[in-house]
Amino acid sequence: MASRAAGTSRRFLVAIARWFDTSAGGAPAADLPQKTDWFRCVPYVAVHLMCLGVIWVGWSPVAAGVAVALYFIRMFAITGFYHRYFSHRSFKTSRAGQFVFAVIGATAVQRGVLWWASHHRLHHQRSDEPEDVHSPRQHGFIWSHIGWITSEANFRSELGVVRDLAKFPELMFLDRFDVLVPTVLGFALFGLGALLQRHAPGLHTTGAQMLIWGFFISTVVLGHGTFTINSLAHVFGRRRYQTNDDSRNSFALAMVTLGEGWHNNHHHFPAAARNGFFWWEIDITYYTLKLLEACGIIWDLRQVPPELLDESLLDKSRTPATVALAPATGSHAASREESLVEIHVAERATTHDTLAALKHNIADTNAVPAPQEVTSR
Ligand SMILES: [Zn+2]
Ligand SMILES: [Zn+2]
Repeated sequence: MASRAAGTSRRFLVAIARWFDTSAGGAPAADLPQKTDWFRCVPYVAVHLMCLGVIWVGWSPVAAGVAVALYFIRMFAITGFYHRYFSHRSFKTSRAGQFVFAVIGATAVQRGVLWWASHHRLHHQRSDEPEDVHSPRQHGFIWSHIGWITSEANFRSELGVVRDLAKFPELMFLDRFDVLVPTVLGFALFGLGALLQRHAPGLHTTGAQMLIWGFFISTVVLGHGTFTINSLAHVFGRRRYQTNDDSRNSFALAMVTLGEGWHNNHHHFPAAARNGFFWWEIDITYYTLKLLEACGIIWDLRQVPPELLDESLLDKSRTPATVALAPATGSHAASREESLVEIHVAERATTHDTLAALKHNIADTNAVPAPQEVTSR
C-alpha cells in the first residue's frame, strides 16, 4: 500500500514538473496504454476552464478583435510552419527563419515543434491503421479529436522520426520547455490590456479581459479548429483521390483551418506546400507562403507534379492492403526519417503504374534536406 502511494505521489510530482520541463522524469515508456491520464492533462483542462473567466471580465470589441486576429495568425503558424515546414519540409528557409517559425508556432500552445511534427509524420506513416493514435476509424471520433493528447502514451516527442529537426539545439530547447513561449504571450496580452486600460480607457478593456479573450478563448478555439483535421477531415467531406486512409476534402474545414481542409489532397501528396490543388480550392496558408517567398523569407516551395493531379489516373483496383506505405524501398530509404519523408512518395503508390516512373524523381525532391540546405542563407 505504501509503495503504491509513493508511486502515485511520484507520478503526481513528475506530471507537475513536466508542465515546466517536458523532459522531467525521463521519457514515458513506449508501450503505455492509450487512455486518458488526468495528472497529465490538468493544464489542458485548466485552459478550457479559464474561458469561463469571461463571466467576470466581460467583453469589448478590441479584446474580441485581438482574439480573432490571434486565432488566424496562430492558425497560419500551425499550418504554414508546424505542418507544412517542420512536418513535411515543403519549402526551405534559413536557420534563423526556422527558429522564428518555431517560436511563432509555439504561441499556438500546441506543444513543441518536435512533438507536433513527429506525431504528424507518424500519422502519415500509418493513417487510419490501428497504430494511428488519432484515427477516428480505429479509436472513435472523440479520441481522434482530443482524447489522444490526454494520454501519457502520446506525451513524448518521437525523436526517431524527426532527426532532421532534433539536430538543432534551439529547436530541442523550445520543445523541452514548451510552456515558455505561451507564458510570455499570456503576460504580453495582460500587459497590453493593462496599458490600454490606462492610456485608452475608451476601449473599455483590461489586462484580465485581454488575457481571457486573447489567450484562453482564442487558444481553445484554435486548438479545436486544428484538431478538426485529425477528426472531422477523416470523416466528413469528399474523396477525390483513393488514398490509403479516410481523408477527405472539405471547403468548410479549409476555411476554419486556412487551407488544411483539403486533407484528401494532402494525403495524396503531402510534400506539397499547397493543400488546395486547384484555383477554386481556397488555401490561405499557401497564399501567405507565396507572400513570404516574394519577400525572400522562404524559397523552393514544392509543387504537386501535374501527373498526380488527375484523379482519373488512379488505379481503383488496388486495395489499401496492396499499397504498403512502408518501408520505402531503394537507395533513398537509408534512414528511418528518410523513409518517413518518403511516405510522400509511398502514398503515391495508389496512382496508376504508368506514374511509377515518377517515384524516384519525386523521391529526389522529397528527401530530408541536408543541414547545409537549411543553413545556407
Ligand atoms: Zn490525416
Ligand atoms: Zn501532413
